[in-house]
Amino acid sequence: MRKTIPIGSFRFINKVWLAVVFFIIVITIGLGLWVSIQTKEIFNISINDEYLGSTSTPDIVKNWVDAEKLEFEMQFPDVQYSSSKIEITPQRKFMGKINDDKVLKEIAELFSIEASGYKLLVEGKVVGTVKNKQIAQKALTTIESMYDPKNLKQEVMTLSYKNKQESKTELKSIKIVESIAFEKVTVDPSELLTENQLLRVLRGSNEKNIIYQVKAGDCISCLAQKFNISQKDILANNPWIKNDFIGIGDELDLTVNRALLSVRTEEISNETVSIPNGVQVTYDESMRRGTSKVINPGKPGLKKITINTIKVNGELVDEVLVGAEVIIKPIEKQIVQGSKVIPGIGTGSFGWPIVKPQITSEYGKRWGRQHEGIDTVSTNRNIFAADSGKVIYAAKNSGYGNHIIIDHQNGYQTLYAHLSKINVKRGDLIEKGDVIGIMGNTGRSTGVHLHFEVEKNNKQQNPMKFLD
Ligand SMILES: [Zn+2]
Repeated sequence: MRKTIPIGSFRFINKVWLAVVFFIIVITIGLGLWVSIQTKEIFNISINDEYLGSTSTPDIVKNWVDAEKLEFEMQFPDVQYSSSKIEITPQRKFMGKINDDKVLKEIAELFSIEASGYKLLVEGKVVGTVKNKQIAQKALTTIESMYDPKNLKQEVMTLSYKNKQESKTELKSIKIVESIAFEKVTVDPSELLTENQLLRVLRGSNEKNIIYQVKAGDCISCLAQKFNISQKDILANNPWIKNDFIGIGDELDLTVNRALLSVRTEEISNETVSIPNGVQVTYDESMRRGTSKVINPGKPGLKKITINTIKVNGELVDEVLVGAEVIIKPIEKQIVQGSKVIPGIGTGSFGWPIVKPQITSEYGKRWGRQHEGIDTVSTNRNIFAADSGKVIYAAKNSGYGNHIIIDHQNGYQTLYAHLSKINVKRGDLIEKGDVIGIMGNTGRSTGVHLHFEVEKNNKQQNPMKFLD
């Protein structure tokens, strides 16, 4: 018997299947939709190859880094630099985690900027760091040009060829003696020197001040030697010093700016100098000793010379005469000198007032101050009359201490100061070479020495002009 399935139940089964299929489709579409909603583009951030996390947009990192760089560039213009490596990689990711704040905070902690600069080495020693070589080169050129003769305000050089009438100097070469080198380095940008700062370092203007209190036995030349400073610098630093007098307890500024560089210049000068005329002397017994008569005044000649000079930092180091040409020959001066001896009248020539003299301070005007005589020392303390004459002063005062003045009655007077003992009295007539006193340390003096002065017609003279 044939079984029949009722139409109604067939339809029922069909409906169930349909519903199941429909549900699967709906769920699939929904799930797909959900997954696609949950899948976003995120940006993976790493610094120096270290992964930090992800951000929602690349811009928050980019903007932060750009702001840092801009701030650096504003603060240190033209400084080359390198910064931490930041990598931003976009990625589409299902349920990807983003944390903008955390990533930014870590970048702020880890990000760094390093400046690059050049160390300047002088003779292998680091002098300072600059942002580029040009700055250092400019400073070096400035130092060189300071010693270009056409930029030197005062003539430092004292030519040994005297009687200069006319001079023309040409620079042959100029260069820094020390070896100069550069080294590229990364540096804290606040340590970079400007051109002016580097110049100050190179010129030694950053030295500390040295203040010294004068002790017994000190003298300007002794301190100069002890502290390796020139007498010129001592006088320039201490404008209150008069007549080279320093007293115990005085405070001296002995600071020297030691330049790190020596600039060597070679110059050629063409000069016209006078040729001193010689003197021919004849003697006359009818004339008093110390007097003379000019028969022919003579006349100096003239010559053209070419000199090659080498200077280091403006100080003369070497001078070579490379050419000379006589233009006018000198004419000899002729004098008749008296030889009749009268006591108390000078012979007209001076002898040393001490034996085996050692000069501790020279005569002259230096940097505005005048030293009216010379200071000398000797192991033999006898003081001799430099020439015959009449004692016009033999007593003490506060500056010179015990001192003697001899009038040689020929226009000259000599003075002997700081004596411990005076052997003569006012009015004495003495002969050249007589012992007139003993060397001492009286008056404004810091040690045993003789201060010796020469005057001609009441005008101060350099005693060395008359002594040899
Ligand atoms: Zn003196």
